[in-house]
Amino acid sequence: MASLSFGLYLVATPIGNLKDITLRALDVLRQADIVACEDTRTSRTLLNHYAIRPPRLMAYHDFSDERQRQTVIQAIQGGAAVALISDAGTPLIADPGYKLVQACHDQGLPVIPIPGPCAAVAGLIMAGLPTNRFLFVGFITPKDLDWPRETTVVGYVSCHDITKVLSALQQRFGDQAQIALCREITKLHEGTFRGTPQSVSEALSLRAAQDPKIMGGEWVLVAHIAAQVLDPQTLESEIKALVQAHGVKQAVALAQGLWDVPRKTLYAMALKVAKDPSP
Ligand code: SAM
Repeated sequence: MASLSFGLYLVATPIGNLKDITLRALDVLRQADIVACEDTRTSRTLLNHYAIRPPRLMAYHDFSDERQRQTVIQAIQGGAAVALISDAGTPLIADPGYKLVQACHDQGLPVIPIPGPCAAVAGLIMAGLPTNRFLFVGFITPKDLDWPRETTVVGYVSCHDITKVLSALQQRFGDQAQIALCREITKLHEGTFRGTPQSVSEALSLRAAQDPKIMGGEWVLVAHIAAQVLDPQTLESEIKALVQAHGVKQAVALAQGLWDVPRKTLYAMALKVAKDPSP
């Protein structure tokens, strides 16, 4: 590889298996003038594994480090190639970097992605749920489950929240949710639990009774919530409420995301209720 030109390189690193790193990522890390990372001790383990000794290794976090951000910007302005990595996976995905990337663009400095592992994408492709349309929701908490239907949702779950998130999902969506909980992806104890929130919860409890350590580690949750099935009368009154709040066009668009009903039928219903003067 020719020597690196100046700019900010966003370098994806392994999420477990150290072999999951691209040749290009290694080239960039070997040649960067500065490697900026979340935790210098964590990143040194990866760099040592590949015998990479950057001239400068510095810590960077979006929210505490205005000074660090300026240091990086000035270094790039001075001609440096800076590689940004996170503890694992793709920087900026539930990890620091967005403010730095924004600052580089504001200053007209090159931003170069070096794609590779990302736990969300790895979880999504191993889940066995639809992949044509998905939404990444960052870290999932039991209180924040306002998810669309018919769109696969992918997020990270702390091992301390797994049980609470599963029971919140069960309460909110019941058997309309099909989920996959993927753990320790690319690591020794990689595995997936698939089913409804309740069946996954039961399977996990059984496994935990034999092996309590199963509840630890790192987890990705993938969920697909089926469209709601409503009887025609309820559907009509729901559409009426939508039409009154948003008008016909918007109501049809919203209804399409909620119920598995053809657009033509929704549109006809919306027009009918729009003409109906009763409240
Ligand atoms: N930027 C990273 C990426 O691209 O995957 C994600 C960083 S986020 C701070 C860390 C969370 O990602 C973990 O708490 C866990 O939910 C998920 N994660 C990371 N590595 C994982 C793995 N090997 N298996 C399952 N989940 C993982």
